[in-house]
Amino acid sequence: MRFPVIHISFLPIAGIALFPFILVKKVEYKGHETFINHEKIHLAQQLELLLLGFYILYLLHYFYNLLKYLNHDKAYMNIIFEKEAYTMEREPEYLHKRKFCEWLRFL
Ligand SMILES: [Zn+2]
Repeated sequence: MRFPVIHISFLPIAGIALFPFILVKKVEYKGHETFINHEKIHLAQQLELLLLGFYILYLLHYFYNLLKYLNHDKAYMNIIFEKEAYTMEREPEYLHKRKFCEWLRFL
């Protein structure tokens, strides 16, 4: 599935998936296969949770992790959706074989 990748130089983070768009801070990220695959995994997660469910669970899990680890980086890296995306981002075929709500496997 193809999604529009949009370059926004003032984006405060490297990139973000906001269905159906992938927003990137640097134009060179548009051609970075691993980076784009990571964001596409987030788009799949967003569709499974009807968008709003993803954003709510994402934030809840981040704040839960923040209380648990008292560290932003650890809290972020342990968000279940990030765990799936970072683990599988280097597999270009992952999205073709990925099962529904595969992120649950990373709990
Ligand atoms: Zn991510």
